[in-house]
Amino acid sequence: MYVRIVLLSMIAGKIGGEFKPIRHKEVQEEEDYIQEVDLTALPVKEKVISEGVQPIHDGLVIDHICRGDKPSEIRDHMRLISSVLGLDEAKGGEWVSTGHKDGALFKGIIFRPGSYELSRKHLKRLSAVAPGSMLNLIKGGKVVNKYRLHLPPRIYNFEDLGCTNEACISHPDQSEGVPARFYRTSDNRFACAYCGKNHTFKEIWKSRNK
Ligand SMILES: [Zn+2]
Repeated sequence: MYVRIVLLSMIAGKIGGEFKPIRHKEVQEEEDYIQEVDLTALPVKEKVISEGVQPIHDGLVIDHICRGDKPSEIRDHMRLISSVLGLDEAKGGEWVSTGHKDGALFKGIIFRPGSYELSRKHLKRLSAVAPGSMLNLIKGGKVVNKYRLHLPPRIYNFEDLGCTNEACISHPDQSEGVPARFYRTSDNRFACAYCGKNHTFKEIWKSRNK
């Protein structure tokens, strides 16, 4: 502690001296904080901005996400998909577009350029969080694998699943340490294996229910 006081005193000037805080000059109101870039100095290719992203040489693209939903709902759900698949820290982006055939329907697309090897576990999680989507794995500029994903018949053994019924033995509030289990119903929902409560595929993830 004494060392720190001495150091502070040294910074302030000298021991016993009066400490005067340094006053910064106020920034001038007219400061030019928005600078227009001179377009005439740029090469032609930098003047074109296309919708979407550059073609991906290697990586993964998840297409047809939540087709038919509102753009705000699609964006919201793509956040969850990225988090469930552990893709939040990678480069890439999310996009909302309309399909070629059904121009009136919106859909989400997640792009992740880079090197990816997806396990069966990843595919199962993606199927459960984005049923109806299409996963494309791209290598060397070509789609090498394409998967159409459907709601799996059962989903369990994942820490981030949670039943939303607070009275359920598997709900985190019950502190019973019972891991959540869901099975698919005939109307494509997930029913809790313990209390039977029905959930949509968007509702079974704890991060969604915080
Ligand atoms: Zn339950």
